[in-house]
Parts: sequence; C-alpha cells; structure tokens
Amino acid sequence: MIRFQNIHKSYLVAGKDVPALAGIDFEIAAGEVFGIIGHSGAGKSTLVRLINLLERPTQGQVLIDGRDITALPDAGLRDLRRGIGMIFQHFNLLSSKTVAENVAFPLKLAGLRDAPAIKARVAALLARVGLTEHADKYPAQLSGGQKQRVGIARALATEPSILLCDEATSALDPQTTRSVLRLLAEINRELGLTIVIITHEMDVVRTVCDRVAVLDAGRVVELGPVAEVFLHP
Ligand code: ADP
Ligand code: ADP
Repeated sequence: MIRFQNIHKSYLVAGKDVPALAGIDFEIAAGEVFGIIGHSGAGKSTLVRLINLLERPTQGQVLIDGRDITALPDAGLRDLRRGIGMIFQHFNLLSSKTVAENVAFPLKLAGLRDAPAIKARVAALLARVGLTEHADKYPAQLSGGQKQRVGIARALATEPSILLCDEATSALDPQTTRSVLRLLAEINRELGLTIVIITHEMDVVRTVCDRVAVLDAGRVVELGPVAEVFLHP
C-alpha cells in the first residue's frame, strides 16, 4: 500500500519557491492499477517520483506498507528502488547495450554476480514480454512498442512489488498502446504488482485502471473508481 500524507512539494526556481503539489492525501491499495491523470504541469510526474524518492516532499510523508520512506537516508535508496520498477515515455534504454544487457543491468546494479542466474532471469523476463527472439538486438533496431517491452522487462528484473509508469505509452501509436496496456494488465494479474500509471490520455485510464485520481494545479480534484469519475458531468 502506498499512502500520501499531506504532501506538499515546491521547487526552488531562480531563488523562488514554485509549488508543484499542494496537499496530497490519499492511498493506493496493494495490487491495484491506479491512474493519475491531468494536464501537463498538474504535478503527476512529481507525485509519482515521490514514490521512489527521485524527488523528496517539501512537507508530508509517503508511506509504503506502513513505512515512512521519506525518512530514509540517501544510503537506503538502492534497497527502496529495487522494490520499485519504473518505465518512461522515452524508454531510457542504454543504446550501447543489447536488449539482454539492458534487462540484466539492474540485476548487476543490485550486486548479482552469478552469470548463469542472470542469464536465466533475463531469459524468463524476455519470454514474459515476448522478446525472446530479440535478445541480442540493440534498442535502435526495435520498434517503439518493443523498446517499451524491454523497459518493462528491465523494470521487473529485481522483482519489484510496485511498477511506476510515467507516460509510458505516450510515444506509441494507439494499437501499440493497447498491446503494452494488455501486457501491464497481465503483469498486474499474474504477478500481483501494484501499478501506478501517469497519463494525459483518458483512454489509457479507461482501458486498464481500477481507480483514478485527477490532478490539477498540484491538488487531487477527483478520485475514485474509473467508471464513477468519468461519469461525473
Ligand atoms: P506533470 O507531470 O503533470 O506534467 P510535473 O510534476 O512535471 O507535472 O510538474 C509540476 C510543476 O512543477 C510544473 O509547474 C513544473 O514546471 C514544475 N517542475 C517539475 N519539475 C521541476 C523541476 N525539476 N524544477 C523546477 N520545477 C519543476
Ligand atoms: P541514475 O544514475 O540515472 O539514477 P541508476 O544507476 O539508478 O540511474 O539506474 C541505472 C539504470 O537502471 C537506469 O537506466 C534506470 O532507468 C534503471 N533503473 C534504476 N532503478 C530502477 C528501477 N527501480 N526499476 C527499473 N529501472 C531502474
């Protein structure tokens, strides 16, 4: 479970505090697919980056399974992030590494040295995302949808319990978007991961999310099951 407790976040820009989040208070249940929707600049990315402490709140706490992660020192970040995978709009793959090497990267970062174990784990991850045939290709040789599948396999490498998706389908065409969303739904169902999806596209939320929060100017203006929120006039 992820709990945001009275979160405020501002950025210091040219000596001035610019607010990005202004009093966020809600929770995301374990195992749910939760959407965060809102216009550009609403604070979606900032909110999600608090979950893996890519950003720290100016005020308030983020609790994961009851533990206040905002109290963690920087030295605790590696362990935290091992339990939280993230995928991005522009995939963030390493272009000089193959598909398999990209997926193996977080395992090596986590200190795994057992080559046969890494190989087996990477093979299982590539099979899960349907890229077994592409293991030795470089990112530049892949389509957008395939690149995001590599991103998903990499994010799952350390067996996280939470997957954060920051506009993960925004660079993809509608058909590829649907196939990536189907994969995310399957991962949620089969692995029980909590999935948090940031998007500016209502269709994405309608297709996969259980509940959604609508963000505007750093505040939650609507929150509830997708069908209820979108029925609202
Ligand atoms: P969204 O993801 O909904 O587009 P963001 O969380 O990226 O929103 O941004 C929320 C607000 O915070 C915006 O006003 C944005 O300009 C500002 N902001 C985001 N990141 C930074 C940063 N690193 N430095 C300064 N301001 C930022
Ligand atoms: P950075 O120095 O850019 O923060 P890291 O050393 O934390 O990068 O991570 C290296 C690579 O592993 C990056 O490409 C990043 O996207 C990926 N990565 C880091 N943490 C995670 C995670 N929890 N889930 C998925 N990928 C991750």
